Amino acid sequence: MEASKLPVFKARLHEIRTSLVGDVEKVIKSSQKDMSAPAPDITDGAAQAYNLQLMLELGEQDWQKLKKVDDALSKIKNGSYGTCSECEQPIPEARLEVVPFAEYCVNCMNEIENEAQSNP
Ligand SMILES: [Zn+2]
Repeated sequence: MEASKLPVFKARLHEIRTSLVGDVEKVIKSSQKDMSAPAPDITDGAAQAYNLQLMLELGEQDWQKLKKVDDALSKIKNGSYGTCSECEQPIPEARLEVVPFAEYCVNCMNEIENEAQSNP
């Protein structure tokens, strides 16, 4: 993907993120900063994510979406955005315009979905 196009997708991802979590996350983060002695379990990444999910009261679907958006944002940072996580081929931009947080190209996504269906 051309580097000049990244800011467009980044902005979209941030928009989606804001629509999911709004300002709630900022509030949580600033309140955690104020704690002089955070509990040990809060410093654990998984526990923190779980707490965040509870605090945001996100449904499972929105939560999965949020994680994908975050993944996509970190891919933009490390320069791998727009690449399929499975076959490492570029994901078509047309697809990214519809689903900016797409992890896989259409072929791999279909295969993964078929596999999921045959393994209940
Ligand atoms: Zn692929």
